Amino acid sequence: MYAIKVELKLNNKERTLMRKHSGYARFVYNYGLALTQNLYAFGVKASIAKQINEIKKVFTGYTKKQPENQWMNKLSSKVYQQAFMDLGQAYQRWSKGLSARPVYKSKKDGDSFTVYDGNGKTLTFAGNKIKIPTLGTFRLKEALPCRYVSQTFTISRQANKWYVSFAVEADRIPPTYHPEESVGIDLGVKCFATLSDGSQVEAPKPYKKAKTKLSKAQWRNRKKQFGNRRQGVKQSNRAHMFFDSLAKKHARIANQRQDFLHKTTTGISRKFYRIRIEDLNVSGMLANRKLSAAISDLGFYEFRRQLIYKAEFFGTKVEVVDRWYPSSKLCSICGNKHDNLKLSERIYQCQNKSCLAHTITIDRDLNAAYNLLNAPMDRVRLAQPEITLADKK
Ligand SMILES: [Zn+2]
Repeated sequence: MYAIKVELKLNNKERTLMRKHSGYARFVYNYGLALTQNLYAFGVKASIAKQINEIKKVFTGYTKKQPENQWMNKLSSKVYQQAFMDLGQAYQRWSKGLSARPVYKSKKDGDSFTVYDGNGKTLTFAGNKIKIPTLGTFRLKEALPCRYVSQTFTISRQANKWYVSFAVEADRIPPTYHPEESVGIDLGVKCFATLSDGSQVEAPKPYKKAKTKLSKAQWRNRKKQFGNRRQGVKQSNRAHMFFDSLAKKHARIANQRQDFLHKTTTGISRKFYRIRIEDLNVSGMLANRKLSAAISDLGFYEFRRQLIYKAEFFGTKVEVVDRWYPSSKLCSICGNKHDNLKLSERIYQCQNKSCLAHTITIDRDLNAAYNLLNAPMDRVRLAQPEITLADKK
């Protein structure tokens, strides 16, 4: 099972609808939390599951019917059911010691809510529209590549963008035709990806520049206060504007990178059947601080994760060459090993004087990509998808 997260393309009316549902989910969660806390104060000993069941009855039989709560009846009833379930799960996690005691949700935590189809799983079609159970049909920024089967859908907001995410039980997809058989890919700091077919993918460079600008803006605005109602701190208009634009800038940078990675991995998965990449020693690379900033900015790890999960619907085979395989040191023509190749040397020249690569030098990354493509089978394994619940924010 894996999760799909796509951006929704909403108009103002739809945006308001989503905000209302988020508010509804928050209201019900906090309502349930307040009542369980009251029951606790009164010394009620029943299990949390039982308590929440009773609270739900009070909610539907009484609270929801009050004239001031009429607005709830215009919204999806799945939202309150799910909010009570979420509360029950939050208590469960707490009782198992997996998280802190449930706390009240505030507007500041952002908007998010979940709906599901009461009749079971629904089919989501390929294309740029999505039908969300009990909410309706909405447009998508990027088309879904194939059909999915899912039951629960979570809608969330990051800055001014809305997303829908849903878990997918890998549904067999119509086989895709791949124009090319195999490719080896070398990832690097200088050039993001070099493919053994000779093509190169350059990473967008706005990130570093944008980051410097951001830290400057944060320093200049360091005295601005985030509002806090309980402590009686009011957020000024200027502070509000600043924090709002800050959130938007952060989201834009993350989106740019994500866009780039998605386009690249989709393109590669469409073109090639067998994709060979180097195993990333991510923790090892992250120990080198200079390299680590470059690498986490570029998103090698995310690149690999996307290739692996896209294998399910493009019908590709992603293979990993073990990290000790000297793909950058070997000559891709004669197999001679170049032991003192410096990281700064961008050209590979074979040390074997009778080799073609001695006279005609070759791009270092391209040489590595060839070696990955032709790595011996005992250095290669099939990449395994990781078990992650959703795309990391
Ligand atoms: Zn050679």
